[in-house]
Amino acid sequence: MKTKRIRAITIPLLTVLLLVAGCAAMPESTADESSGLTFIHVNDTYRVGAVEDGTKGGFGRVVTIVRQLQGQGRDVRILHGGDFLYPSLESQLWNGMQMIDAMNYLDDLAPMYVTTGNHEFDPRTPEHLIDAVRASRFDWLGDNYAFNTGGADVDASLHKAFTINHGGKTIGVFALTAHAAYGGNDRDYVPIEKDFVGAARRSIEALESRGVDAIIGITHLHMWQDVEIAGLKKDHPTFIFIVGGHDHEPHYSEGNDSNATVMKGASNARTIWQIDMTFDAAGMPQIDPHMLEMGVGVPSDPDYELLNKKWRARLLEKFPFLTARVGTAGESIDVTEEEVRSHENGWGNFIVDQMRTAFGDPAAELAFINSGTLRIDDFIAGDITFEDIARTFGFSSFLRYMTISGAEFRKVMEAGYRGDGSAEGYFPQISGFRVCIDRSRPEGDRIVSLQLPGETGWSEIDGETGYTLVVPDFLYGGGDGYELPKDRPASRPGSELKYLVLDAIVRAQAVGRAVGRNPDPAHPRYVELGPGRDACWRR
Ligand SMILES: [Zn+2]
Repeated sequence: MKTKRIRAITIPLLTVLLLVAGCAAMPESTADESSGLTFIHVNDTYRVGAVEDGTKGGFGRVVTIVRQLQGQGRDVRILHGGDFLYPSLESQLWNGMQMIDAMNYLDDLAPMYVTTGNHEFDPRTPEHLIDAVRASRFDWLGDNYAFNTGGADVDASLHKAFTINHGGKTIGVFALTAHAAYGGNDRDYVPIEKDFVGAARRSIEALESRGVDAIIGITHLHMWQDVEIAGLKKDHPTFIFIVGGHDHEPHYSEGNDSNATVMKGASNARTIWQIDMTFDAAGMPQIDPHMLEMGVGVPSDPDYELLNKKWRARLLEKFPFLTARVGTAGESIDVTEEEVRSHENGWGNFIVDQMRTAFGDPAAELAFINSGTLRIDDFIAGDITFEDIARTFGFSSFLRYMTISGAEFRKVMEAGYRGDGSAEGYFPQISGFRVCIDRSRPEGDRIVSLQLPGETGWSEIDGETGYTLVVPDFLYGGGDGYELPKDRPASRPGSELKYLVLDAIVRAQAVGRAVGRNPDPAHPRYVELGPGRDACWRR
């Protein structure tokens, strides 16, 4: 069955607004609509406010949509596909409590049901989760995992085979999160079942035995996993849709008689899904899904904005220098996650270039980071503020200096080019070398050319020679599938990447130099062979 990545479908918001206006003029026309059920789905929300200078996403716009639907008499329920407590600049201060406050606001407006994402379990110990669950008013759902936090009230609050009622109908909801084998976190305080299809089937059967009228899933998995689960509809005809998270761009897999529909929105509520549910004459559930683009055409709700302003003021109280200008961007650089996780990126290049000199002279020959380190999900343009730096690094990233043979390095880098080329946090941003890959070749053997500059031009890395390399401690420890040899002399974790980058920007500013440029198409660091490109390097 086909799945689609959706880039831009314009929301008929104007139509919605006209309808509202029309209804006000003709009250008799609303009677039939007044008992309708609508799900609003969001996923991967890391900010209380909007993104891209306030022009996109944010819960304030979601609130506006919910109020409009409620104004039409619809019964709105909000679904959240996970990833909200971490990572963000604010989470480094409040462990996600700012998001709990924002999500409670949504829940007060319309009941909200939430599955957890991998990032809810970023910390190694459960204190943050205990606090978050206790402070929350929305429902936490989990069918393939348990909370084992030591807080009995918290552990007991996670619902399995959850049901909601609307107009005499019962809708069953199951919720899944990613196991460590599929990008989840591996923590004692949240045991996760690996067999996602088995867990979904078990919950669907439990819900059926209770006689529910429709079944929906909320997941935080890869799209291919959701599509696999969607196939359970063959044997379970009331299983109607899955809404998911983990991906940061919208996805849609159309449903039919044997597959449930799968939908995912974009991160930070830049796009959300509105799913109207009805029941046909035979009592079978039907849906009418719309993907809504949350841009400047949707105003942020003024009452919600008070909450946003409160957290903004608290942030500025902690970091009064946040809005201070530290430098100037050489060009407007798109650092949204979709972009940085699948392409060579100008902001990524600038950052990785700083890593090679992090341990003094001589500079290391090679450096790379997983693009998942770069969390800003926004544009770098014009004035660079301290906030741009702080938001770029959602985690502290300490660096390691080590030596590695050319053959080993080539093998390590293969991990960065697995998959089908869709945006992935393991995709590397690199410095000191250039690489050319061919995705038509098997995983683990896709690097066609990996070259270093020399006095006589570029040449292939030498398998026998030892090279100096700087990587974040996360990658040194085997993060994101990069398996670096551990039996080599390596430095202790030193130099924090955020301050290294800040220092470089301030120094450039002092001599009137802008930093960061988009990749030069004539001199790429990363080339992918395929249609339109059959040679790695052009003369
Ligand atoms: Zn995730």
